[in-house]
Amino acid sequence: LYDHRVEEDIRRIGIMGGTFDPIHHGHLVAASEVADRFGLDEVIFVPTGQPWQKADVPVSSAEDRYLMTVIATASNPRFQVSRVDIDRGGPTYTVDTLRDLRSRYGTKAQLFFITGADALERILSWKDLDEIFELAHFIGVTRPGFELTAAHLPADTVSLVQVPAMAISSTDCRARVARGEPVWYLVPDGVVQYIAKRRLYRE
Ligand code: ATP
Ligand code: MG
Repeated sequence: LYDHRVEEDIRRIGIMGGTFDPIHHGHLVAASEVADRFGLDEVIFVPTGQPWQKADVPVSSAEDRYLMTVIATASNPRFQVSRVDIDRGGPTYTVDTLRDLRSRYGTKAQLFFITGADALERILSWKDLDEIFELAHFIGVTRPGFELTAAHLPADTVSLVQVPAMAISSTDCRARVARGEPVWYLVPDGVVQYIAKRRLYRE
């Protein structure tokens, strides 16, 4: 299922869901590393509509998060951005993301959902988990400050991958901008400039 062979007629598609408020180099390194290790043909970044886990915190507009994701991924021919979660409206559940991408790509695609150690810890609370695991193979990646484990999950549903440690979070990037501190080299240059141009995270 998830070895390194690339079968010619089956596209291997990574999916990286996130709020991306803003997208940073932790997201990009994780996607790049998993794409290499799993021989993925492409990785689709999917910015959330309303993240249901973040209902009580302010989140930038979907269009700003979408555009930052496009800017950050534009130079990589294997990186794509999908609007499915933004255009569906309402709170985003991963099961809907996977259903939409499955119907778009059909059975000629194998889906790999990439998630950081922190998100993997909380996955048991996700809606329709059984169906989620039928739709995609999960790849949990290391993230500084969190333990990467699949002990709470059914066998063979998740692979664990060590990626270069990037102690970066969107929360910290937003706080830095609010304090007038730099986010150069934490996020791609174009995203630094977009944040400044749109005056995001200023308070
Ligand atoms: P926030 O602080 O706003 O929650 P975040 O940095 O956690 O932002 P998200 O958009 O919430 O970013 O994360 C999207 C996905 O990327 C999640 O699966 C998360 O675990 C993963 N991820 C985020 N940052 C890193 C990182 N530095 N290393 C590895 N994975 C990461
Ligand atoms: Mg997060």
